Amino acid sequence: MKSVVERLRGDTPVFSVEFFPPRDAADEAVLWRSIRELEMFDPAYMSITYGAGGSSRDGTIRNIARVATETTLVPMAHLTAVNHSVAELRNVIGWYAAVGVRNILALRGDPPGDPYGDWVAHPQGLNYAEELVELVRSLGDFCVGVSAFPYGHPRSPDLETDTRYLVRKFNAGADFGIAQLFFEAEDFLRLRDRVAAAGSDALLIPGVMPLTTPRTLKTTIKLSGARCPQWLLDRLEPLEGDPKAFRAEGLDVVTELCERLIAEGVPDLHFYTFNRSKATREVVNRLGLVPART
Ligand code: FAD
Repeated sequence: MKSVVERLRGDTPVFSVEFFPPRDAADEAVLWRSIRELEMFDPAYMSITYGAGGSSRDGTIRNIARVATETTLVPMAHLTAVNHSVAELRNVIGWYAAVGVRNILALRGDPPGDPYGDWVAHPQGLNYAEELVELVRSLGDFCVGVSAFPYGHPRSPDLETDTRYLVRKFNAGADFGIAQLFFEAEDFLRLRDRVAAAGSDALLIPGVMPLTTPRTLKTTIKLSGARCPQWLLDRLEPLEGDPKAFRAEGLDVVTELCERLIAEGVPDLHFYTFNRSKATREVVNRLGLVPART
């Protein structure tokens, strides 16, 4: 099984896809239809997020194992330190390895219930993603990714501090970073410049959300932690009452963003799919990222 970094070593840009764990059997059927539809487009890798607890965590573990054993896709499992002791984290990591998952996105996570509340570590747990990177690395031959924030993490006092801690994650053994959602290519490129200026040559991958509905725009604004630029609101807000026109314009916006990122040499575009495949397939088709074998 190839690692994420090995999959990104080619001369041409590729794309990857992210899903979240299904809530019930109907959701799981939708997830698997999307996984199969995207498998035909040969993404560089696919990932499943890790939830705040309970059944959603089981959903990550069960479905990433299925991907590893039943598909041709390269799986990457997300993992967070939320409500886990180190012993439990070791267990999950060992389990990922046992089912053939060699790529892990190591995250601190947010306090359950209130993502903006104060972080409280598990009494036998970890405080920062950096420590989880070290733990994963100490347990085997994993390819490890971390999160990165073009506008800075919401809890960081300033961009300089944020960059310093991001680079510490790379120095602790992370191979690449995936960026939180952003609006303009320059926002991502400035992050890349800050990391390079801090002396790290780690691989940075932009996160991309296909803007198909007003809800996807609202989610992008919320996750980015930044103000949406007026030009983007001017293009999309007037279309909120016309789903077809909104979708068409939203996918144009995202395609233009991706074209600019590709021109700037990004190795991979990481699509947040919302467990649906159609919009991602449409954008990667337009960008010509589909390998010849499809
Ligand atoms: P950290 O890197 O630990 O950073 C947290 C804060 O602490 C930051 O402000 C940072 O600057 C600061 N900091 C870091 N290291 C230190 C240090 N050594 N000393 C002092 N301060 C420090 N959440 C989920 O629950 N499940 C998921 O699957 C998931 N997937 C994600 C995927 C991507 C691509 C992204 C961008 C985010 C994802 N998240 C997920 C959200 C993420 O868990 C939250 O944004 C969380 O608040 C921060 O996690 P982190 O790994 O960046 O934390």
